[in-house]
Amino acid sequence: MGAPRILVIEDEPDIVEVLTYNLTREGYQVLSAKDGEEGLRKARQENPSLVLLDLMLPGIDGVELCRRLKADQATRAIPIIMVTAKGDESDVVLGLGLGADDYVKKPFSPKEVVARVRAVLRRAVERRAELKGERLAVRGLVIDQRRHEVRVDGKKIDLTPTEFRLLRALAARPGEVFERQELLSHAVGPDTVVVDRSIDVHVNSIRKKLGKQRDLIQTVRGVGYRFADRKG
Ligand code: CA
Repeated sequence: MGAPRILVIEDEPDIVEVLTYNLTREGYQVLSAKDGEEGLRKARQENPSLVLLDLMLPGIDGVELCRRLKADQATRAIPIIMVTAKGDESDVVLGLGLGADDYVKKPFSPKEVVARVRAVLRRAVERRAELKGERLAVRGLVIDQRRHEVRVDGKKIDLTPTEFRLLRALAARPGEVFERQELLSHAVGPDTVVVDRSIDVHVNSIRKKLGKQRDLIQTVRGVGYRFADRKG
């Protein structure tokens, strides 16, 4: 995987230069476009990791460009950070409504832009992982399927493979009641043919490891267990 590529759509050369300098220094590749037409074309052709979009552009303006990028199957998943000048507030609201991820106000500090870019890219990666079912986040709990890792309030906890599969099954369907028999089928994996202890023992062990978040797994008396739903 190469460095993330940032497409800067901006008509003021000085600003393009400042952004290019600072983003390149942080390890990003930077492409630029000086108007909406060129920006649209490059977004389609180059499939950048993120677009930094000036709202005041000659030709197609930033809001219209945002609309087109979000309407096109080929570009709709590309995160957008809008760059706005004073007086663009209503355009910012429009842009966010169209699906832009964030905005920065001119005059901006390059540091701030870099921080926003990093945050939006990180969220985009997490979102993709969530869509693929590789990552689950509920309240303080994060289950990373690819790394086989569970974090509670940012701290890594150690689960056995059986416990990991149980927790993942429960957390994947918050609010739904699982009978013990069903959980048993989730608990079995390539490394276990028979679940050595009862589901209750495993669940109690998971709860202990969840610490302050132990109430995420709720007992449904006489039936089984359920993972607290997002509000709960
Ligand atoms: Ca401009």
